[in-house]
Amino acid sequence: MDVLQVTDLSKTYKTGKKALTDLSFDVKKGEILGFLGPNGAGKSTTISIIATLLKADSGTIKYFDDSHLSGKQIKCKLGVVPQDIAIYEDLSAYKNVKFFAALYGVKRNLIDQKVRNALTKVGLLERKDDLPSSFSGGMKRRLNIACAIAHEPDLIIFDEPTVGIDPQSRNHILTSIKGMRDQGATIIYTTHYMEEVEQICDRIIIMDGGKILLNDTLHNILRDYTGPKTGKHNLEDVFLSLTGKSLRD
Ligand code: ADP
Repeated sequence: MDVLQVTDLSKTYKTGKKALTDLSFDVKKGEILGFLGPNGAGKSTTISIIATLLKADSGTIKYFDDSHLSGKQIKCKLGVVPQDIAIYEDLSAYKNVKFFAALYGVKRNLIDQKVRNALTKVGLLERKDDLPSSFSGGMKRRLNIACAIAHEPDLIIFDEPTVGIDPQSRNHILTSIKGMRDQGATIIYTTHYMEEVEQICDRIIIMDGGKILLNDTLHNILRDYTGPKTGKHNLEDVFLSLTGKSLRD
């Protein structure tokens, strides 16, 4: 089943900057899709349109193989983990997650269970009564994730969730993302860290200049684009050869 069918999306900002040109791709149920590109490639624009925060000029997105879903129904099936941490410092971890779960329409009789599940997934259940102000940067990011997933979305979009955090929290986040996938969620994952992509992604889209340059499984990309005949050793080399830029730029 296709969780997303993105067809011919185009977007030009008011400044005249064309951010996306006829972008088309599918996202399959149960996969972790690595969404990669140098700065300015159009990743955030695409993600904002998918998350219904921004309107495309043209093109369509079919969500969850169902043309009849309302905007509200779509929103309740989406989870977006923003790059910037958006939590309330003066509410306990539990109350933060509860607030977002209620916002996404989780029924009152289910809310305690779902909040606990989300805190368990990110390894913060034992800290549920603590204020985020006592948390490390990595723990705040994990709480941010719990807030975005408590309503058990079918599609979760992570926008660089591991920037500037300690290795322990990073590993925890990567493991919990794989766990979410194994429980049936579909994931779109953006990052500037290639080793994370090789660790967790099933499929990879590399874009630049508002267009897709490569869209294939990690397995196929490594098989077809790296090795002695190609002169490329890893995904980082493939990225560099396609875009002319390093992912870290
Ligand atoms: P990425 O997330 O891959 O770094 P973006 O989607 O943020 O790329 O940006 C794509 C292009 O659109 C870039 O050239 C960027 O400068 C431009 N852009 C992004 N947001 C805006 C905006 N709000 N107004 C004008 N131009 C924008």
